[in-house]
Amino acid sequence: MFSKEEWIEKDLKYVWHPDTQHKQYEGENFKPILIERGEGIYVYDIDGNKYIDAVASWWVNTLGHSVKRLNNVLLEQSQKIEHVLLADFTHKPAIELAERLVKLAGEPFSKVFYSDDGSTAVEVAIKMAYQYWYQKGKPEKKYFVSMTDSYHGDTLGSVSIGGIDIYKEIFKPLVFETLKVCAPYCYRCPNNLEKNTCNIKCLDEVENLFEQRHNEIAAIIVEPLVQGAAGMRVYPAKYLNRLRKLCDKYDILLIDDEVAMAFGRTGKYFAFEHAGIKPDIFCVAKGITAGYIPLAATIATEKIYKEFYDDFSKLKTFYHGHSFTGNPIACALAVENLKIMEEEQIIESLQQKIEALKKSLKKFETLKHVGDIRHIGMIGAIEMVKNKLTKEPYTFSERMGHKVFLEALKMGAILRPIGNVIYFMPPLIITEKEIEKLTEIAYNAIKIVTEKTEVL
Ligand SMILES: *Cc1c(COP(=O)(O)O)cnc(C)c1O
Repeated sequence: MFSKEEWIEKDLKYVWHPDTQHKQYEGENFKPILIERGEGIYVYDIDGNKYIDAVASWWVNTLGHSVKRLNNVLLEQSQKIEHVLLADFTHKPAIELAERLVKLAGEPFSKVFYSDDGSTAVEVAIKMAYQYWYQKGKPEKKYFVSMTDSYHGDTLGSVSIGGIDIYKEIFKPLVFETLKVCAPYCYRCPNNLEKNTCNIKCLDEVENLFEQRHNEIAAIIVEPLVQGAAGMRVYPAKYLNRLRKLCDKYDILLIDDEVAMAFGRTGKYFAFEHAGIKPDIFCVAKGITAGYIPLAATIATEKIYKEFYDDFSKLKTFYHGHSFTGNPIACALAVENLKIMEEEQIIESLQQKIEALKKSLKKFETLKHVGDIRHIGMIGAIEMVKNKLTKEPYTFSERMGHKVFLEALKMGAILRPIGNVIYFMPPLIITEKEIEKLTEIAYNAIKIVTEKTEVL
């Protein structure tokens, strides 16, 4: 057998890691951590060290690692049918999951279109929205509106509607043109207003744009309530509620990218529930199989679906399909996930944990370099700043988030940051005691890193 060092050596030799600068990776200070197994909220490395999976393995894990019921379903389904095409053929897991999703989302949703991951679910939503208007005889409605600093995936369509420079800048010549509106980033409000009294002034810009160009706009796409990849920026549900009304007024579709937020993350099954609205199309992926294997779905209302329903010769078919569309193992896992959530009352059990997280976040207020503390549901985020008064951020090259990450690793928590933002997005099964422990680790790591830098 190979030693740990040999495995790492082979890793560095053969694997090109995502979002990773290998020159830094191969440097003195850091080596990839070789994970061997997981259980509950913990993952264990090859030396037996355990870490709290505080970022839910890139926001996908909801019920913890290695869940018996899910393990069993994985095995059982693979012994029946591991995969079969979903055009002209179907299978019980795909049917059962679609029915459950439609019923969970409620009226007026009626159809589930499967794909493989968040990016593809978004691609499907974009194409669906465009083709919808095309078939309604309005091909000029071809623009998509999205927020600054939004993230909708890494494929080119989703990069087009995305707004984060590091993912987009280089590819600008390749992506299609979109319209951007200012994100409701309350800590650094674009209008310099306060969250409690602003009356959602940032929607004025959206309304102006809609008023001027609604004839050309197909849809607006949003990350509901939280701009995740921008740094867990939480914004008021009222924004989404009023946006729905604007979309109705100007006949623009509302696409809700629930990829990161669905299945309990915000304390409800879907984030749109907080706003008391229904989008026209929404996307889910992360969390759908509780974090086991990739699966995504784009869920449409009857209004959308019926524009595609006609005689074959009318060419209104939605010509889109991935090889693994509606994979039976993935769908069976998702069905079991939803059954567990229902039977074990996961959503109900969250309410107390959400309060515990809120309370645990209080302690960060006293830290000198904590500028903003954000919270919704089972997400907490701490934005570190160089200067609390001026909100001056740490520079990109200071890598403060990364330093906190390294410090926290030593203390047994995976707090992989987003720039200067340290966040908690643990599996939903985390206990109140573990929440306290996790936030304690983050507190100490942030304190050590930010106050040490000061002395130097
Ligand atoms: C992660 C994410 C995506 C992309 O999902 P992948 O599965 O990584 O392709 C899309 N939208 C949002 C809001 C996300 O957080």
